[in-house]
Amino acid sequence: GTPPYDDQNVFAKILRGEIPCRTVFEDEFALAFHDINPQAPHHVLVIPKGRYVAFADFAASASDAEITGFVRAVGHVARLLGFEESGYRLLANMGPDSHQEVPHLHVHIFAGRPLGPMLV
Ligand code: 5GP
Repeated sequence: GTPPYDDQNVFAKILRGEIPCRTVFEDEFALAFHDINPQAPHHVLVIPKGRYVAFADFAASASDAEITGFVRAVGHVARLLGFEESGYRLLANMGPDSHQEVPHLHVHIFAGRPLGPMLV
């Protein structure tokens, strides 16, 4: 299963305000902020506020309100930043084979240039 949640991970520190971030959107369920090392003209991370490492963990343990809130936040950011017309890409890494660096569930949103074919 998913490893236990580490309260010292960088996104936990961002959620507690111990590390600053450039916030795009925040509500009671989710926080969206600019990635510190952007891989596209727009590169935003969306995280649920709850203590979830990965998707399976989130899907199994989060409340319906948390799940809805997280999905809505992703869509809200895409609309807020005007990504719908030109398009955007969502990506989420889970665990070692995917090179997940930060063990707090997050979705990357990439936009602002042609993104090329999907990379596995
Ligand atoms: P992962 O490889 O876990 O899917 O992606 C982690 C992402 O978090 C990377 O794109 C990395 O640039 C970003 N990141 C790591 N530390 C920080 C930080 O302190 N602030 C922000 N805004 N992004 C970070």
